[in-house]
Amino acid sequence: MPEREPYAQVIVDIASANTDRVFTYRVPEGMALAPGTRVLVPFGHQTLEGLVIERTGQCDIPPERIRQVIEPLEDYPAVLPPLVDLAREISAQAHTPLALALRLMIPSEMRAGRVKAKTQTVARLAIPKAGIEQALADNSRSPKRRLLIKLLSDSLPHPLQELKALVRDPLPALKQLAQAGAITLSQEEVFRSPYAPVSGLTPDPVLTLSQEEVLRELLPAIQAGKGSFLLHGITGSGKTEVYIRGARACLAQGRGVIVLIPEIVLTPQMVSWFRGRFGDVAAVLHSGLSAGERFDEWRRIRSGAARLVIGARSAVFAPVKDLGLIVVDEEHEPSYQAENHPRHDAREVAASRARREGAALLLASATPSILSFAKAQRGDYMLLEMLTRVNQHQLAQVTLVDMREELRLGNRGMFSGLLVERLRACLDAGQQAMLFINRRGYAPSVLCRKCGEALACAQCDVKLTYHQADRRMHCHYCGMTTALPAICPGCGSAYLRPVGVGTQKVEEEFAALFPGVPVVRMDADTTAGKDRHEQLLNRFRSGAARVMIGTQMIAKGLDFPQVTLVGAILADLTLNLPDYRAQERTFQLLTQVAGRAGRADMPGEVIVQTYKPEHYAIAAAATQEYRGFFQQEFARRRQLLYPPFTMMVRVLVEARQEAQSREVSAAISQRISQHLGQHPVLRKRVLYVREDAAPIKRIMGRYRAQVLMKLLAHDDSQQVLAFLNDLTQEAWPCRVGLEIDPASLA
Ligand code: ADP
Ligand code: ZN
Ligand code: ZN
Repeated sequence: MPEREPYAQVIVDIASANTDRVFTYRVPEGMALAPGTRVLVPFGHQTLEGLVIERTGQCDIPPERIRQVIEPLEDYPAVLPPLVDLAREISAQAHTPLALALRLMIPSEMRAGRVKAKTQTVARLAIPKAGIEQALADNSRSPKRRLLIKLLSDSLPHPLQELKALVRDPLPALKQLAQAGAITLSQEEVFRSPYAPVSGLTPDPVLTLSQEEVLRELLPAIQAGKGSFLLHGITGSGKTEVYIRGARACLAQGRGVIVLIPEIVLTPQMVSWFRGRFGDVAAVLHSGLSAGERFDEWRRIRSGAARLVIGARSAVFAPVKDLGLIVVDEEHEPSYQAENHPRHDAREVAASRARREGAALLLASATPSILSFAKAQRGDYMLLEMLTRVNQHQLAQVTLVDMREELRLGNRGMFSGLLVERLRACLDAGQQAMLFINRRGYAPSVLCRKCGEALACAQCDVKLTYHQADRRMHCHYCGMTTALPAICPGCGSAYLRPVGVGTQKVEEEFAALFPGVPVVRMDADTTAGKDRHEQLLNRFRSGAARVMIGTQMIAKGLDFPQVTLVGAILADLTLNLPDYRAQERTFQLLTQVAGRAGRADMPGEVIVQTYKPEHYAIAAAATQEYRGFFQQEFARRRQLLYPPFTMMVRVLVEARQEAQSREVSAAISQRISQHLGQHPVLRKRVLYVREDAAPIKRIMGRYRAQVLMKLLAHDDSQQVLAFLNDLTQEAWPCRVGLEIDPASLA
């Protein structure tokens, strides 16, 4: 950095700042300090961590008062310059300090030096090959040193650890050889890898016609470094192969790739496909890794050793240089929306980053979100389609079963006659089945048959779920568990009875119907802990388990060739959510879950059990016709003025006392009405302002109240949002947050 810019603008103490504190420091002569580098700076009497956001030539502070940067924390910028800009944009849009947005860009382990790079001793030959004979002769009296010279004669670096496995106690001999100048010993960084090294790569399959057509559009865009695409590819159409070929085109140009996936459960499969084709250049970032592994993967990416990143939402901030492509797999997933500060949507961040860094963007799904598909229709994205399955495999046949009819026939169980019959046929034929129910636990509520009350959590306004495994009641919001009481806390009767269904109950009823058939259950309860996902998936993939029972966790993306039957136990669960997206979520989940059947040579069959077979979301999922559903849902949103025609905006108030929560939300509601009263132009854009308790009135002991607003999608609405942002940042006596189109309105 030239002397013309002797100053650095530093954001101080990025670990605890709630407002931006940018200070100017002088950069000592000769210290290379690019924007994005973490530094130690003097601050009052303390020494704090900071991040250089800019170098400047000017400074208003008198020279005698300006202090100097102590030292850089790394010899490279931890945050690449385009990511500093991206952080600025996120902080502006989310109205949060830049310091908070910058935290997204750095592994939390790195701040405050919680994890250190791991180093190891490495030995290498220091003499030319021609000198080896002489060195062997010089060490004729020590067989150990001669052996070491031979082992090192390939001139490759050999970690001490590896030599220890071959030679007993090699260190003294190595030190002697180093002293004599025959070898060097050095400390080098090791990367803790979550995966075993890849041996041998898998060959490419021949592309299908639709894969070829899609790539014909995509590859030139990657070459040109621009273009945004929405790929609508039905389940089993081979979208992953498109990502792989796109990634390869990028890597061939020396550019990097980020592939975002929505769930940890999909990571092992995606990683094994990518590592099988690309080897160790593929790195992985997700919360299932240990802190050390995550930090090392991050550094492997930062150093350029890994140019292909597969990861969850936060991987969109991976320090990939020369980015050429960002893929967002299963783009319809709500998990791409980050609700915590700074609030952001990984899909929008991906779009912005792609534009900034000259990369192509590929959003893909079998069931694109209504918002993304509407954008594609408007021309914001180029729409690509793959409407046939690989190898002419057919989509599975879907049959709806009306559970009201089952009840009439006297079947009080969770399995319809048809599902039992098809399960039996599937298992007899040696194939596998998946059973889907979007609720974990045994029974969603324990009901008193005398007074009709259901047991609820003492801290949250939600019903407790009964778990058979520990025979306790669990709250799925705060994690609290209690023993099942002997008598009803309301009326004292002894008639408490679990009602409704959950994964555990499905497992139990299945075991009664099919004794001895091995099952894996996948839900939040069985997959806690590192590698649990992978173990359970492997048990099913290997055939050791014949049936998989699970929540939405198993609905999407998984590819098990032996699965020919899928049963959706109760399709209506998501339909009853208090959310305008309930229809969309139901269609997506059912279509995705149906897509797990018949992915290889055997035809698949899907049985959807429901109390509402006539509902359009369920009927559309049965035909798996995306466009038909889109048109119907889009028309409904237009008619009822839901997004994308409007924005749902909520001010959420949380307080220890119920009265306080309502007082504050009422005050906020009043201030909003006042403001709109003074600005008639803005008032026209706001369809309603409603103050009320939140649908879930209490979580973890905090009472929740809300002001819900619907704003027309119009430029003026930005001014309303700016006002709301200032309003919510005022000093209220309890927690107040602004949510714009939040993923959940519970
Ligand atoms: P999607 O993500 O679209 O549901 P996948 O990418 O999981 O589909 O692919 C479905 C299956 O088809 C996978 O087992 C995959 O290995 C296989 N596959 C994909 N492309 C090809 C191809 N060109 N030739 C043969 N098999 C393929
Ligand atoms: Zn009772
Ligand atoms: Zn609770």
